[in-house]
Amino acid sequence: MEYKNLEEFAAQFFTMLKATVEKEGQYLRVINTPAGFQKFYGKKEPYLINFDKANETENTELLAPGSYLLRVMSDYLEARGETTMLWLVPQFDYEKIMNEKINLLNSKWSHMSKKEITKNMIRFTFQTSFNYLNKQDKITSELFIDETGEIIEPSINWTFMEGKKREVTIENLRALYTKAKEEVRRVIEPKLNEKAASLQKSLVKEMERIQTHYKNQRGEIEANLVKSREQLYELINTDKDIKNREQRIAKLREIIAKNENTQELEKIKKEEEVFIKNETKKHGLNVSTKLINTSIIIYPIYTIQSFIKSNISERIILFEGDTLRQTLSKVFCEGCKNEINRVVLCNGNHILCEQCAALCEDCKQVSCNMCLKKCSVTLRQICKQCAGTCRKCMQTKNKRFMRINETSKEIRCVECWNYCTSCSKPMGDNESALSAICTNCHYKQKSASAMMNIKRDW
Ligand SMILES: [Zn+2]
Ligand SMILES: [Zn+2]
Ligand SMILES: [Zn+2]
Ligand SMILES: [Zn+2]
Ligand SMILES: [Zn+2]
Repeated sequence: MEYKNLEEFAAQFFTMLKATVEKEGQYLRVINTPAGFQKFYGKKEPYLINFDKANETENTELLAPGSYLLRVMSDYLEARGETTMLWLVPQFDYEKIMNEKINLLNSKWSHMSKKEITKNMIRFTFQTSFNYLNKQDKITSELFIDETGEIIEPSINWTFMEGKKREVTIENLRALYTKAKEEVRRVIEPKLNEKAASLQKSLVKEMERIQTHYKNQRGEIEANLVKSREQLYELINTDKDIKNREQRIAKLREIIAKNENTQELEKIKKEEEVFIKNETKKHGLNVSTKLINTSIIIYPIYTIQSFIKSNISERIILFEGDTLRQTLSKVFCEGCKNEINRVVLCNGNHILCEQCAALCEDCKQVSCNMCLKKCSVTLRQICKQCAGTCRKCMQTKNKRFMRINETSKEIRCVECWNYCTSCSKPMGDNESALSAICTNCHYKQKSASAMMNIKRDW
């Protein structure tokens, strides 16, 4: 019978999701389920739903009391609840943050541009009911959680608006929901403790009242007994003539017997216990939390391209700006890798801390330890702007010791070229192997003598 009910529940559930449900022997075959559910469940269709634990196999989904699928189905109904979609209206002045946080020591911001991508955050709204002493208190808690599962503290800077709807599937909605539910437990804990403490206090007071009441009742019985016994003693032992004496003695004996009866005391004790039990029950605290709304909040993440410019070099710095957390990514020194707020731009385009920056010993401009190279002629530490590397001897020397061959554009140090004996320009290796003058000079001489020949012929 139980299985039959679950089968109906499953059929209704998947029909409601507009899936195709077919009976297949003792199973239900389900296809065309929404992608959202498949992700929520963590397994792709088709599903062959089995209602009997005895028939469980790898290819079937067990739906039985306490089974995983059953829990997923009820969570899905809950988490699906009322889903709204909101857009964060970004109020994020990243330029201001940049100017405040980053101190450019030898450069200036030149221009910026930004691109944006969107990310999602989920807002779960829970309602917790505290039921006690025939009363009910309700509190609403909003939990913000991003797609990575990080709980986000709400900010007064957030403004949301209902925007154009679009299909958003949250990959791990179930895990996020579970996490948010744990978090809401933590959030309501102080309230819960406060309520429990006040109920405890009230219960102690009630118990005292009950106990005093029954203590008094027992005391009264005790006092009656003593009093009746005294009266009886007096009646029996007096010499005086007393009216209705025998009747009064009988009455007193009756009262004494009644008061001596332990059953009476037990009855009172029981009654006291019942009262205490009821009072304890009444002071019990019942707490239940349910999800009343799920909102997907879409917010932009900016990729900001900022250019910084010194009198010699220009460099781009990429920032990631989180419009939700209002944070800007950090800048790190490219030398020591430490985070920096005071930025030095080297003339070889490195972004540096002050410690990693160094001056070129030739031009005295700001360079850095990564860029500086030793000139093999002057033995000075020189910057990228000042240094050149000879293609032949591979030595680093100041550019003033470098010469370029106009034809091949090859750069070598002064020592590594053969020079034309006519024009003194560097000659290619092939050229110099054939002649002491360069091809240019060679042709010039040839055309000059040709002109002379023409003159002579004329
Ligand atoms: Zn550094
Ligand atoms: Zn230099
Ligand atoms: Zn550098
Ligand atoms: Zn050389
Ligand atoms: Zn020449």
